[in-house]
Amino acid sequence: MKLLEGKVALITGATRGIGRAIAEKYAQQGAHVAFTYRSSAGLAEEVEAALSAYGITAKGYQADAGNMAAVQAVVDDIIARHGRIDIIVNNAGITGDNLLLRMSEEQWNTVIQTNLNSVFFTTKAALKTMLKQRSGSFINISSVVGVQGNAGQANYAASKAGMIGFTKSLAKEVGSRGIRANSIAPGFIATEMTDAIPEKELESWLTGIPLKRPGQPSEVADLCVFLGSDMSTYITGQVLNVDGGMIMA
Ligand code: NAP
Repeated sequence: MKLLEGKVALITGATRGIGRAIAEKYAQQGAHVAFTYRSSAGLAEEVEAALSAYGITAKGYQADAGNMAAVQAVVDDIIARHGRIDIIVNNAGITGDNLLLRMSEEQWNTVIQTNLNSVFFTTKAALKTMLKQRSGSFINISSVVGVQGNAGQANYAASKAGMIGFTKSLAKEVGSRGIRANSIAPGFIATEMTDAIPEKELESWLTGIPLKRPGQPSEVADLCVFLGSDMSTYITGQVLNVDGGMIMA
């Protein structure tokens, strides 16, 4: 029995890294997968083909997560094709690091628009349908940086902390209708996003990780399978860390 058999999922930002791993695990587990990307059209074709090989429906949409009209059009198309939407994984995210003294208004706005406003857009677009269904699972990919803060990442930390507050509010607002919302806080995961981290900083991150290694995208994807599935029907409003023990509550 597949854990997500027949469910319809949207994953934002899934041409590489964590989003791609989630898309693959979802397809393996029987979900129909719609995913978005901003510019990597070639990779999107590859992902679509890889997912379809699992015998599910897969479709990639070029849609900037920070553009409300584009996101609404994607969600409308998914609902028109499938008649429902069961899981939304808000994964698309960027960094725009700088010390506060040097951070421009544009650096601030772009990160907030892509990482935080995007979550409002997908949620708003899908909520009416989920309310009618009386079911749904929102999974928002935050970060340990949203919980703890990080020097040089005030914009990113604010966006990721904002996601957590948003998710808890959503969980309270729609829980009575069978809709769940949870945040995941990954720690240090090996993707292109973290490839850019200098060797010295990397070593200091690893020192603080009890498991003494970076996480793999598939290890975040495993939790997304659980939260999207009926194995987690009494879990909502939580922040779940996938961080090798970096933060212990
Ligand atoms: P990544 O390797 O940089 O991949 C990002 C994906 O998102 C790509 O498919 C990219 O496609 C897409 N994307 C970026 N901006 C987009 C936009 N405006 N609209 C639609 N799609 C967009 O990133 P990652 O490391 O997998 O991170 C995924 C999520 O996990 C992010 O939210 C990140 O903040 C979070 N996270 C990552 C780590 C980590 O250690 N890696 C830790 C904590 C949290 P295009 O290139 O086509 O735009």
